[in-house]
Amino acid sequence: MRKFLPTFAALAAALSLLLSCGKGPSVSKNADPVITEALSKVSEDSVKAYIDDLVSFHTRHTLSSQTDPEKGIGAAVQYLSDRCSQWAKAASPQRPRPKVEHIRYTVGENGGRYDRIVSVPELMVTLPGTEGDREIILMAHIDTRIIDVMDSTSFAPGADDDGSGLACLLETVRILSQIPLKQTVKCLFVSGEEQGLDGSRHFAQKAKTEGWPIQAVLSNDMIGNTRASGTLLREDHKVRVFSENIAGGEDTDSRQLARYIKEMASVYVPDQEVVLNYRSDRYRRGGDQQYFQREGFTAVRVCEYCEDYERTHQDVRTENGVDYGDLASYMDFSYLVRNIKVNLAAVMNLSEGPARPRNARIANANELDNNTILSWDPILDKDGNIDTGIKYQILCRETDKSEWMAEFPMGIDNIVDPVRSSSGKVEFSCPLSKDNYYFAVRAVSEGHPGLPAVAR
Ligand SMILES: [Zn+2]
Repeated sequence: MRKFLPTFAALAAALSLLLSCGKGPSVSKNADPVITEALSKVSEDSVKAYIDDLVSFHTRHTLSSQTDPEKGIGAAVQYLSDRCSQWAKAASPQRPRPKVEHIRYTVGENGGRYDRIVSVPELMVTLPGTEGDREIILMAHIDTRIIDVMDSTSFAPGADDDGSGLACLLETVRILSQIPLKQTVKCLFVSGEEQGLDGSRHFAQKAKTEGWPIQAVLSNDMIGNTRASGTLLREDHKVRVFSENIAGGEDTDSRQLARYIKEMASVYVPDQEVVLNYRSDRYRRGGDQQYFQREGFTAVRVCEYCEDYERTHQDVRTENGVDYGDLASYMDFSYLVRNIKVNLAAVMNLSEGPARPRNARIANANELDNNTILSWDPILDKDGNIDTGIKYQILCRETDKSEWMAEFPMGIDNIVDPVRSSSGKVEFSCPLSKDNYYFAVRAVSEGHPGLPAVAR
């Protein structure tokens, strides 16, 4: 166990500094050059080209043609598959070969937003990890709609909703097919979103049944628009990350993931501010992350800060001098590029970082003690020994604060070596009262932090 015995004056000074600094976690302040280099490869030209190609399928409605080679969801899925297969074939020999799989599920048995029973296509691209016992999921929806949700033949371009999310997944496959990562990254191209989140429900249930070792799910749905209709507000350096709002939910796993994405963005994409939104989704609307949350997975939605209702779900038309429709010409591609970088920074750090520590506890919760003793199970290597390459970092925050701090005041070294105590746990005694702070611990490997475990 680590001991810390400061003088009263030093402790008082330390505490006042802690209260005033309010800085975010510091472990990841030094960017990993491999990740920085990967982010620099996100290309505005590529992203534009994907979205032009996707719009050219006229509609990608879930009930649209699956046989027309040029129009409809069938042609769109084939396009996504062809692009990803081409990158998989040219993947770096340093990494396991990415795998592209066509997946189908049946909908319409229960009516709803379907006029018939139909088998619909989805796509799953797996970028296997080199060590991988965990998976990180990126998700976006293929399908589009206009005002009439049952109209499967009219022009429904879906440039932003959700061509922007698909472009994020395509860039991820293109770039990561050249980079070996420790953990597996899966890109799920889902259909049925506009008909009732059917594709993501199918994938979430499949993941649960098959026991996918999912660490995090990032659903990207509308990440390329910067204008708010009605108010004409424009925000091109802010992006929202929604994490579910449930009773007692300030420290849900999804919320830890949302904070993690924000922290990584602050290091790797400092000109894009991640705004944490402590809601499951927007008013009267939902998203594909929700079925993963419902099945018990850690899932968030990444979404533009401003929404333009003259674009989303509109028929392409001009009415009273106003142009409607979700066309690429209204998108902000440099904004979209930054949002793709936000995704990549989170995904790559999660992949290189360790697992979440297990059984994090406040060991002296029942004692009147102004020190807080934290304990957790050490992470083991594949031979069952304590992994000495992993260190731990303590995070804390006052009870009314949203984000973790790890910049502890002078003298408090909150980086903990993996030394087992007599209880078999790793322990850390922190001279801050458990009454005044929430605490969490996370594992760190070569500067890459994992997701934190809240000590309870
Ligand atoms: Zn959408």
